[in-house]
Amino acid sequence: MAALPEPSLILSFEEARHLVEDHAAHLRPRGKELVELLEAAGQVLAEPIFADRNFPPFPRAMRDGYAVQAADLSRLPATLEVIGEIKAGARTEDVPTLQSGQAAAIMTGAPAPSGADAVVMVEYTSRDAGRVQIMKAVVRGDNIAPIASEAKRGEKLLSPGVRLDFAAIAVAASVGRSRLLVYSKPKVAILSTGDEIVDIDVPLAATQIRNSNSYSLAAQVQAAGGEPILLPIAPDEPERLRELIADGLESDLLLLAGGVSMGKYDLVEQVLAEFQAEFFFTGARIQPGKPIVFGRVRWGRGRLARELPVSPPAHVYFFGLPGNPVSTMVTFELFVRPLLEALTGMLPHKLAFLNARLKSSIKAKTGLTRFLPAILSGEFEQSQVELAAWHGSGDIASMVRANCYIVVPPDRDQIQAGEWVSILMR
Ligand code: AMP
Ligand code: MG
Repeated sequence: MAALPEPSLILSFEEARHLVEDHAAHLRPRGKELVELLEAAGQVLAEPIFADRNFPPFPRAMRDGYAVQAADLSRLPATLEVIGEIKAGARTEDVPTLQSGQAAAIMTGAPAPSGADAVVMVEYTSRDAGRVQIMKAVVRGDNIAPIASEAKRGEKLLSPGVRLDFAAIAVAASVGRSRLLVYSKPKVAILSTGDEIVDIDVPLAATQIRNSNSYSLAAQVQAAGGEPILLPIAPDEPERLRELIADGLESDLLLLAGGVSMGKYDLVEQVLAEFQAEFFFTGARIQPGKPIVFGRVRWGRGRLARELPVSPPAHVYFFGLPGNPVSTMVTFELFVRPLLEALTGMLPHKLAFLNARLKSSIKAKTGLTRFLPAILSGEFEQSQVELAAWHGSGDIASMVRANCYIVVPPDRDQIQAGEWVSILMR
């Protein structure tokens, strides 16, 4: 029988997370593809994007009002001669030149005339035919964005590795890119295990459980930028489990759910060991999710059904996630996400916690870092967080009500109402 991992590979939350981050730092995405701009939203950019012109390309009025020379407003109210009106989109050759004593009506987004050094907001003016009276002084530069003040032509605006959110899509659109080079989505095999687990669309006996983990994981994989591949459910029986693991190792990442606890039929680690898996940890001092397993198998130990990629990675990583649905969801966010994000090409970032005031006190056992489903409510500065009523790691219904996790450090057995606690948004 293949060697089982050492029983001592149980790490603290921070150790386990850092270990995953260290491995993630060496992973690269598989390929690149050119996609339509909107299709690129949510994907990871694979090329640098440069400014194709200055931003703004002309001195741009930032308010509706009057373009003036600030020096003309040293005494107030000041009366200036109106020499014209400049609309957004006005051509440079149609824009008048401003002399001292003159003003030009101007709209937001229009080119400021040469000679003008500020725009007075229309609210501080009163127009009378060919003249305008100005009630408020401005300093040079007020309400005009100078040429190239936001970006110079040729400047890098987006780097490879950014996830294309709406702001990045706006940048790409503004430099005229209707297509973008993005990294190909990594394929993530999902394998749920358990004799009691059945497909969601078949009749089931009273003691059987519908497979929710494959679907929650698939949704999480999609949200993190991967392409889920759902494998058939594996029974608690080594032969079929071995076949399905071999299939799963053809993907860029393999996620197993269930079968990693201490039960007699928890076979996942044993079967992975037969693939000469390297185990980095087989548990983390967290709750939920304590039995989580992380490791890798040398590439090519799967069935190799797939065509050989250009340059195969050295390893396929896997996670054995505990099967309790809430544990599966939480451990994905804590450990799978950073590795998966690296495979999508995303630049690494640290796990950030927010802080919120605790609404009612919490008691906990020490020794484990806890990620407890919780509800952040209230508004503006009055936000408060409280535990979602939950009945343990199997309680999917409570996860739906929760919108975050309260993070309880392993040395705290009590947190009082009113204290600040760390939360992890969902
Ligand atoms: P295990 O990690 O295999 O010991 O499973 C822990 C608990 O999670 C058991 O109550 C399982 O029935 C349940 N469970 C395991 N896999 C799934 C799944 N795919 N969908 C829903 N519940 C599951
Ligand atoms: Mg099981």
